[in-house]
Amino acid sequence: MPKHTPGEEVLMDYAAGSLPEPLSLVVATHLALSPESRAAVADYEAIGGALLETIEPVDVADDALAAVMARLERPGEEPIEVSAQPVREHNDGLPRPLADYLAGDLDSLPWRTVMRGLEEADVETGDNRFKTRLMRIAPGTAMPRHSHAGTEVTLVLKGAFSDEDGHYGRGDVQVADEGLDHRPVAEEGEPCICLVVTDAPVRLTGPVGRWLNPFIRY
Ligand code: ZN
Repeated sequence: MPKHTPGEEVLMDYAAGSLPEPLSLVVATHLALSPESRAAVADYEAIGGALLETIEPVDVADDALAAVMARLERPGEEPIEVSAQPVREHNDGLPRPLADYLAGDLDSLPWRTVMRGLEEADVETGDNRFKTRLMRIAPGTAMPRHSHAGTEVTLVLKGAFSDEDGHYGRGDVQVADEGLDHRPVAEEGEPCICLVVTDAPVRLTGPVGRWLNPFIRY
């Protein structure tokens, strides 16, 4: 089970439907892999629905209303998982929310080589304020050390990576911002495949990285 979630605030924003599309895609995909986060979001949705009901009659989403009703009917029971879609997997073991955004199988995507051991493929969303892409990192490959001008949200889909912050495996989300200067290294074994959303270019900070900076596409 994933250990790193996007954080309470992001999950609440997701439940409220206020996340931009690329981040919503990251969270929806994370939810497919994390029963814990699904339960949290179900709670937020139920609370949100109940609050709306006390203010004025509104059209509450069917499932949120069902969750409130379920709790009213069965007090003391564990929260019902409203958003608890079973993990429906597409080709390649990718969770459905993400698979629906891709034109085909992982291998058929237009991967481009960024550096030895690192490939990227763009993911089209309706929001161009963010760069949304898949990264495929060969086992054991170290990324160039870098910091972040904005926010970088990474969801691990396959394999794993480690950096100064910890170990990230399937379903884990890392939210990196200005405060994190890191050098992610893909674990040995299978390639590490991540969904990465950034709102600004990363800044390479290692000795070689500083020289590479002008060539990094954002
Ligand atoms: Zn980073």
